[in-house]
Amino acid sequence: MRFTKITASIGPKCEDRETLTKMISAGVNMCRLNFSHDTGDVQGKKIDLIREISDELNTPVAVMIDLQGPKHRIGNFETEEKYPLQIGQKFTFDTDPTPGNSTRVQLPDCDVMKSLNVGDRILLNDGKIEMAVESVSADKVVATVVRGTEIWSRRGFNLPDTEIATSVLTPKDRADLEYAITKNPDWVAISFVQKPEDVAEVRDFITARTSHPIKIIAKIERPNAVARITEIAAVADGIMIARGDLAVEVPFEEVPAISRHIIRECRKMNKPVIMATQMLGTMVNSEFPTRAEITDVANAAYLRADSTMTSEETTIGINPVNVINTMDKILAYSDGDAIANPYDWSRVENIPENDWSRSVASMAYLNRVSAIVVFARDASAAMQISCRKPDIPIVAVCNERVIANQLCLLRGVFPVYDADLFAQRDAFNSARRFGVNSGKLVIVDDDKISLRTLD
Ligand code: PEP
Repeated sequence: MRFTKITASIGPKCEDRETLTKMISAGVNMCRLNFSHDTGDVQGKKIDLIREISDELNTPVAVMIDLQGPKHRIGNFETEEKYPLQIGQKFTFDTDPTPGNSTRVQLPDCDVMKSLNVGDRILLNDGKIEMAVESVSADKVVATVVRGTEIWSRRGFNLPDTEIATSVLTPKDRADLEYAITKNPDWVAISFVQKPEDVAEVRDFITARTSHPIKIIAKIERPNAVARITEIAAVADGIMIARGDLAVEVPFEEVPAISRHIIRECRKMNKPVIMATQMLGTMVNSEFPTRAEITDVANAAYLRADSTMTSEETTIGINPVNVINTMDKILAYSDGDAIANPYDWSRVENIPENDWSRSVASMAYLNRVSAIVVFARDASAAMQISCRKPDIPIVAVCNERVIANQLCLLRGVFPVYDADLFAQRDAFNSARRFGVNSGKLVIVDDDKISLRTLD
């Protein structure tokens, strides 16, 4: 049985009905639609298709839309050639749309300039170029090249030392979210979150437009977000460790320690965590993962992350179905091994002795129950029990499809969408539906917690 969930990024190589059906059958629990690439109806049709396949297979699947966020890029150069850079030379970013050269280029998103301070680092092209800000004026930033030998059009840039004073929602994000809301996604992921107020801004935007209970994932990819992880986790509904940009913005050797810290903090805050980016990256071009990738996926399971995530290996890879089968195999084995060597949640968690979810986990563990059955009016109770990491399956009986979909992301939670089972509070048949036919159950129904033996 696999406890760690799989989030799959959906793109050109896997958005046809046949491939997507095979991927969901192979174990995809949540589909990520990245609005950095397609937008509007193109993404809307993919959401419709995922919902249809979920119905056909009678399997809940979550849909997460991922907003591009304020990803910054420099302007165009005179030609598409690469332009040489010398260490120590000055380079200017300005507001002039004239194509760039070896000494200057336009910064189309000139609002960012206002946030820069002398000494701040500017990292371009995934950190391959580093510059240090020398001077800032209303329409010009002059920097010194510290690392890098060439620069060319439209390179992305990161500002790891800078608190950027623009909204977390760009005009494009607002248009994308406005559209996406009409398709009732289960989760919305926000890119380049810096502070808890960014999450509040997106929540306000959503609640002003719909009563559908869309949940919010904050992507952690900036140092200032890492520093405020507990506050951000308190207001978000889940966290993504977006290791792609994170490894540019912080020294790469810190990424594993930061990931462990985020998982630990989110466990305390009762919020799920997605481990993202380059998990099986070489499978873009290969049928086999590297030993290091196998270990990375397994470690996410041992750390009790809620979900791993695929990126380009499913969107543009040679065999997206094989990627899901590979991830499923690694996670299922590692989860089994982790469960055989139980996790001492009472030692590593800072959860009060009398916390109700801790009592549920403790009761389930001490009585060696076969499953914890939760009647899930909303996502919160199952989410909280899941964060105690009881290493026992949590069968969440839901009478609303959106709740079942949202719970797909949570480690060890197996949602059953059935209004009758929910109305009758039929824990035994709920367990049987999940394949548990004997043993004890812990049953959670609002504030009533009971221990029963399945007969
Ligand atoms: C990342 O940076 O790791 C990430 C998931 O974000 P994106 O793919 O949107 O850049």
